[in-house]
Amino acid sequence: MQALEDKGLLKDELFRRLTEFSAYDAPWRNGRTFAYMYDAGSEVEEVAKRAYTQYLSENGLDPTAFPSLLRMENEVVGIAARHLNAPEGAAGNFTSGGTESCMLAVKTARDYARAVKPHIKEPEIILPVTAHAAFHKGAHYFGLKKVLVQVDPVSFRADPKAIEAAITPNTIQIVASAVSYAHGVLDPIAEIGGLAQSRGLLFHVDGCIGAWLLPFFRRLGARIPDFDFTVPGVTSMSMDFHKYAYCPKGASVVLHRSKELRRYQIFTCAEYTGYTLINPTMLSTKPGGAVAAAWAVLNFLGDEGYMRFARRIRDASVAILDGIRAIPGLRLLGETDTNLIAFTADEFSVFHVIDEMKKRGWLLQAQLGYMGSKDNVHLSVGQSNFEQVPEFLIDLRASVDAARAIPRSNVVEELKAEVKKLTPADMTPQTLARLMDLAGLSGGRLPARMADLNQILDALPPRLCEMALTDFFNDMYMPRR
Ligand SMILES: *Cc1c(COP(=O)(O)O)cnc(C)c1O
Repeated sequence: MQALEDKGLLKDELFRRLTEFSAYDAPWRNGRTFAYMYDAGSEVEEVAKRAYTQYLSENGLDPTAFPSLLRMENEVVGIAARHLNAPEGAAGNFTSGGTESCMLAVKTARDYARAVKPHIKEPEIILPVTAHAAFHKGAHYFGLKKVLVQVDPVSFRADPKAIEAAITPNTIQIVASAVSYAHGVLDPIAEIGGLAQSRGLLFHVDGCIGAWLLPFFRRLGARIPDFDFTVPGVTSMSMDFHKYAYCPKGASVVLHRSKELRRYQIFTCAEYTGYTLINPTMLSTKPGGAVAAAWAVLNFLGDEGYMRFARRIRDASVAILDGIRAIPGLRLLGETDTNLIAFTADEFSVFHVIDEMKKRGWLLQAQLGYMGSKDNVHLSVGQSNFEQVPEFLIDLRASVDAARAIPRSNVVEELKAEVKKLTPADMTPQTLARLMDLAGLSGGRLPARMADLNQILDALPPRLCEMALTDFFNDMYMPRR
């Protein structure tokens, strides 16, 4: 069957439709979005677009065919290495994002252990519960056993004692965050590094979201303990350029303390009839635009540009933190060191605040409760939010008042009660389908207000929650035909 219309669309019509599609997207150009978006303003956007399109078609698959991309990658990774005080001899790669960087660190650890510690048959990776899900994904994809450890219940920083207690003869890697996504806190990297070193373990510091900003914050006077390669036990790090370095999406870096270690990241295949495949990262065909745009934005903004942004981000974050502290009924979760903020409410569902803020034109992110971190609202504060802070706090106060007035939903209370009674044996597709139906999560469609649904998801055991959302996405991504 023919897949496309006989005739292509006219250009005007094509772009009209592309614009029309975005009608319900998060409105990120106005500084009212606190997740997913990192907006540096129109001038940086123009630079990024021009660089991206200049290298739109070039392919990073073969650095001998496109030495320009190899050069830009090595320069960009060099910037990261200097920024994170990596020693001479450190090596890394440009990747498509934080998840890829984190997963490559896990893959490297697995293959390193296979070579150096072949007696380990069931390798384990130690993850504080605040470590990003990308490491769970890595453990899942690469067949490692994940060992989750509790963090400090008040600060939400990783607990070196708990990590130490979790080490077994099968441990191959420890992970910590600089900073954690959920609460924005910097883990005690020096202590964990010492531990890793004394036990001969690899230690990855996930700086995906925090590591770019932390050195700038430090220069602005924030007290930031050592978190990078200056800590001897740190063997690898990840850092995203597409977050607070404001490069277009598809830009991150994974760095290893040495080239010897990075070797285990590279996949090579000469056992098929085509071109010999040599992939330092997950992708094979790689968009040249992403690395060119990252190179361009970093060099366009320069140290001065990032200091200016860091100041705006810090000032906005401090003002928002003070504002939240002053709103009765809200409670900050953790002791953020940065621009990532989590807050909760004890007298009403904080998820209603997200819906109320959405009505007022703001996008906030829900975080479900897990292991001592109760249900909360997450804010990633960027430079574009700076001017909006006063209005944000006015609307937040109004949204809290509105949320408080919303009566508890009977459906939610009944479902929560029902969920409590579930045993693993009840987790059949039928039970799940019925629960999802009651929660308004069926047929790949979302309810208008998300709070009820989020409360139900929050009440589900994580395993059930994962199953429900897997099914939901399985429904949502269906080809239009
Ligand atoms: C964003 C993030 C990741 C994952 O990065 P993606 O670019 O979304 O794939 C990993 N770790 C932390 C701490 C993050 O904030």
